[in-house]
Amino acid sequence: MNAKFQGCLSHGDRRRLTTLLQTLETEADHFLGYPCNRAFDYSELFPFLAYTINNVGDPNVKSLYRLNTHEFEREVVDFFAGQLHAPQEIWGYVTNGGTEGNLYGLYLGREILPQGIVYYSEDTHYSVAKILRILHARSIMIKSRPDGEIDYEDLAETLKIHRDVPPILLVNIGTTMKGAIDNLDKIHAILKNLAIHDFYIHADAALSGMILPFVDNPQPFDFRHGIDSIAISGHKMIGSPLPCGVVLAKKSHVRQIARSVEYVGTLDTTISGSRNGITPLFLWYAICSRGVEGFREAVESSLQMARYAVDKFRQAGVDAWRHRNSLTVVFPRQAEETLKRWQIAVHDDIAHIITMPHVEKWQIDALLQEMLDETNHHRRPQPGRPAG
Ligand SMILES: *Cc1c(COP(=O)(O)O)cnc(C)c1O
Repeated sequence: MNAKFQGCLSHGDRRRLTTLLQTLETEADHFLGYPCNRAFDYSELFPFLAYTINNVGDPNVKSLYRLNTHEFEREVVDFFAGQLHAPQEIWGYVTNGGTEGNLYGLYLGREILPQGIVYYSEDTHYSVAKILRILHARSIMIKSRPDGEIDYEDLAETLKIHRDVPPILLVNIGTTMKGAIDNLDKIHAILKNLAIHDFYIHADAALSGMILPFVDNPQPFDFRHGIDSIAISGHKMIGSPLPCGVVLAKKSHVRQIARSVEYVGTLDTTISGSRNGITPLFLWYAICSRGVEGFREAVESSLQMARYAVDKFRQAGVDAWRHRNSLTVVFPRQAEETLKRWQIAVHDDIAHIITMPHVEKWQIDALLQEMLDETNHHRRPQPGRPAG
């Protein structure tokens, strides 16, 4: 520690930090609505925070800036490449999260098929509409089915109308609200049926990209099923105090956008210039300390918790459901107070909880009890009004 920077906080400022810590501790106990795993311990890595680590540039190219963790970043990418059955010629890096990975994938798609139209479903994450504006890419939103999957008929019809323009497909591997997985086999069949040979497929697998490799019977989601790139969040299923993620893409695609930069002596293949060097270390640590077996166990127990939540809710008369291999438990929107207390995300008339590894039964029980109390409260006859 640098002594120069110690003891300069005022009493009041220090108190604010203490209060913040207490607030975080309380809120963390009521954290059911977002897919961020808080079951982690990276304290062994804290000494690395004392250095100006920066992973600027391509993780595979030696940079003039040597305070980096490129070697660890490459191992993280290799791990994901293995789990996703990527071809030999694969490239990737550790991003700031799912959004950057989606931006990267769609950027590649747009560079490879500059005239292309991007297709994505209504249930797609909000980041994608923004990315399309950034890229100034032509795009068409496709209808979703009620369960959150893309509407294949609408997709087929729309593709048919625009057969002269190559499609860039954003495929959801686990939608944000309903955990729905767009069926890659069906999408390929549609393309084949229309004799469309030039296309690009990016998979948004923010949460489920770290679930499906560890279940026995996964829906099609990886490079074996004809994707060109994929984005996965690191702070979701793996868990990290700093948002992060990985993006993987076929090397032949990345070559088209690589530019050499003299200032840092490396290849500018990434979106950000300066890049986080700590998060690759966190992900590497998680991979090495838990291993495939550890991830498998975490996924299995989280799926069991999702099953528990659906059963418990349904027994109590709440219409809850989830997709196969999904931790996202969908149910009708609840009272604002309840939603706020448990930090539950809503969209129109539905709400969801996500049974991440840190979620425990008592929390699900407490949430359900609150929901039932709220319903009974409103059913109670109002004073001065006849019941019924
Ligand atoms: C969370 C999420 C994203 C965005 O990921 P960030 O890591 O928050 O940037 C994108 N797509 C889906 C389906 C998500 O669930």
